[in-house]
Amino acid sequence: LRELSVSAADPPPAQSRPISVRDAQAIILREIKPPTPGPTPVTSDVVGLMLAADVAADVDSPPHDKSMMDGYAVRSADLASGHATLKVLEEITAGRTPTRPIVAGCASRIMTGAPIPQGADAVIMVEHTRYGEGHVEINTSPPRPGQNILPRGSEMRRGDVVLPAGTLLRPLELGILATVGKTEVSVRPRPLVAVLSTGDELVEPGEVPGPGQIRNSNGPMLLALAAHAGAGHRYLGIARDRPESLRPLIAEGLQSAVFLLSGGVSAGALDLAPDLLCEAGVTAHFHKVAMKPGKPLLFGTYDHADGRRTLVFALPGNPVSSFVGFELFVRPALRRLMGHTSPDPEAISAVLAQDFHYNTDRPTYHPARLELASGRWRVRVVPWQGSADLRALAQANALVVFPAGDHHHDVGQTLDALRLE
Ligand code: AMP
Ligand code: MG
Repeated sequence: LRELSVSAADPPPAQSRPISVRDAQAIILREIKPPTPGPTPVTSDVVGLMLAADVAADVDSPPHDKSMMDGYAVRSADLASGHATLKVLEEITAGRTPTRPIVAGCASRIMTGAPIPQGADAVIMVEHTRYGEGHVEINTSPPRPGQNILPRGSEMRRGDVVLPAGTLLRPLELGILATVGKTEVSVRPRPLVAVLSTGDELVEPGEVPGPGQIRNSNGPMLLALAAHAGAGHRYLGIARDRPESLRPLIAEGLQSAVFLLSGGVSAGALDLAPDLLCEAGVTAHFHKVAMKPGKPLLFGTYDHADGRRTLVFALPGNPVSSFVGFELFVRPALRRLMGHTSPDPEAISAVLAQDFHYNTDRPTYHPARLELASGRWRVRVVPWQGSADLRALAQANALVVFPAGDHHHDVGQTLDALRLE
């Protein structure tokens, strides 16, 4: 490895000791340069991105005092008893402008969304009225002034910041953007994640494995994790455990904002990824994390001549290790790249629902089920065969963190857990 910057206080020449998950997360976030935001047309493609600049209203909404009901616009003074027969002046539908002020003894038929005519201060629901021969008979309780009227500007006033920078764009925000006439917004581009699986033993899911072979489960899983995290994604296929096979695919992966490589990252005879990444110009920031599953995990950066930076994650090949590595390190990196202010996964304090004896040499992210019981999170351990056991992980909705050592954990003990999306 060309360079390691484990921590400023204690920079080892080559990484002998694994670093903590927390330090690893801090190093990753420190190395990220979020791309400059740019103007982007508002289409469903921006859903999931963060606004990089405030959006202000260019109009009052509603643009006029507006009726919230189909009914009759009246003067509340005419209905002090709740009963009256009023002369109907005109019919005001949404999009029309009233032409007749409401004077004593008069009303106008009005539809939802239509502007309130001058002189009126209440709308009576059509259900409480009966129309006949130019007059309306009203039988209701006395209306209060303002009843069924939404005043101009009550939702937003021209100049109000309706969506501050840092807002996550969901479908509902697109409705607000449309209200204020924003057809273009400033957002950071969706990061593109390239995924490369490595291993001589791998075949694609559509193939039948021969002797000694297994199917490539990490490729589809990592692509889907990236997509689900809101990133763009690109599959680079399977590299064989040979420099000639890995080199061109590494070069390809380094073209994306984020390059995920799985397998070949530990210390086996055919674990070529660290050396070949280094050869390609990647600066490694750490290569071992004190965690289970997935201790060998390399994070590096590659700086392009034009100033762009590619983040490189070489994840261990075992599927649960790859998955946990994604959740702990890649997802926060993607969140930061997309402009989230709090990218780190949120730790949930949970009460252990069972006695559990566990002996582990590293802090362990164990598959578990979290449930909310009378206002407290309870966590139950899911039986698990280790880092290849993706099937057990599918029964989990969380990872519970057990400290290193040989411990009896008692029911009722509080542990940290990480909720899985
Ligand atoms: P490695 O990190 O390359 O030493 O691989 C560790 C274990 O994960 C080995 O048993 C590999 O066969 C397995 N493995 C590696 N890559 C994949 C993959 N893409 N899908 C499923 N299993 C994998
Ligand atoms: Mg391998």
